[in-house]
Amino acid sequence: MNEYDSNRILDLVKPIGYTVTDKPSDADCYVLNTCHIREKATDKVYHDIGRLKKEFRNKKKPMLLVTGCVAQAENQEMFNREKYIDGVVGPQSYHQIPDIIKKIEKTKIKINSTEFDVIEKFDTLNTIKNSNSKISSFLTIQEGCDKFCHFCVVPYTRGPEYSRSFNEVINEAKQLACNGSKEITLIGQNVNAYEYKEKLNTFCLSDLIFKLNDLKEIKRIRYTTSHPKDVTHDLIEAHQYCEKLMPVLHLPVQSGSSKILEAMNRKHDISDYYKIIEKLKKVKPEIRFSSDFIIGYPGETDDDFNKTLELIKRVEFINSYSFIYSSRPGTPASKLDDVPSEVAKNRLIELQDLLVKNNSKYKKKFLGKSIEVLFENKLKKQKKYFGRDKFLNSVIVESNQDLNGQILKVKVNDFNHNSLFGTILFNEKSNCAA
Ligand code: SF4
Repeated sequence: MNEYDSNRILDLVKPIGYTVTDKPSDADCYVLNTCHIREKATDKVYHDIGRLKKEFRNKKKPMLLVTGCVAQAENQEMFNREKYIDGVVGPQSYHQIPDIIKKIEKTKIKINSTEFDVIEKFDTLNTIKNSNSKISSFLTIQEGCDKFCHFCVVPYTRGPEYSRSFNEVINEAKQLACNGSKEITLIGQNVNAYEYKEKLNTFCLSDLIFKLNDLKEIKRIRYTTSHPKDVTHDLIEAHQYCEKLMPVLHLPVQSGSSKILEAMNRKHDISDYYKIIEKLKKVKPEIRFSSDFIIGYPGETDDDFNKTLELIKRVEFINSYSFIYSSRPGTPASKLDDVPSEVAKNRLIELQDLLVKNNSKYKKKFLGKSIEVLFENKLKKQKKYFGRDKFLNSVIVESNQDLNGQILKVKVNDFNHNSLFGTILFNEKSNCAA
């Protein structure tokens, strides 16, 4: 989501004469767009500012705006802690950045803008063309969250659930297609909670997917991040009938233990999760899953942890994010006692070992096989191209020709933990949708 927001911030400041620089030491203005999901992310912001101060020690100070969820959460505290900051702008106020920049240029007064203006934000963004021309683009359809998982700061930093209008989203998708995008990933903190009411109609995520599936220029559709509670029947049908919807789903589960899921306030138990996986596999047998895991959540016993390992073995996730639980101030879980850090660390090592083993077992199956790859960019100073297959695996091939934007068949010859390596089987566009 921050990548989408950063691109839109760039679209917003272009009319007032700012553009992106590839030489950061020449910048007149820095925008640090931040994430607050983990404690380290906050530390990183102050660390980055320290680096910036050193770089500009003997030069004119650039204007510094901190945007995103750290700005929202830390608010005025940021100015107290770091005098170098000129503006603090929350994720629902970034449409005001052009005015904020102009005011700071004129008055040198520090500005704090952290209201929840989500409707006004998208009203403003709709008037400005999305200039992103990546082959694979993100498109925000929903923001905020009403689920209040006990460990998470999102409901406090991004605010309540808000869904953009159906037509707004489709128009922006058409604009991205016109700019050259072939793949669209619909994004939201709780993307499958998308619900837009207009007169007597209610539009859901599945309606957006079916509509995008009909757009000729769009070849692939993805969505992230989903909550198991909102995997509805119509969404499962979208997986069954929309051939452009890719057969991989990131479905965060956090723990394999129903006891821990309840403590986390995840609003489903582990049998619900298994049922969703089975339903999706039934309508789309090739579908694969990735997930998020929090290790060492307060109260997690060896038995709870073993249930998480069992879940990983059973679902055979192809790619996952796993972290030791990190307490976030203001959340209900922050009042609970942490699992001893040594115990949590050892569990994380065991879990990640299993995920790595699963990943290489999974990647090995691709050897000698033919896959379809959408090429996204050329690697710097190399005759190599980067693309992704339908399962989101990164794929690298050598080529003297420009492959960007093409979907081509590739034979896989090798792999490592991050990528598959292959050769193009025939240099012509595939007829397949994916
Ligand atoms: S559903 Fe996701 S975004 Fe919402 S509170 Fe839970 S973890 Fe945070």
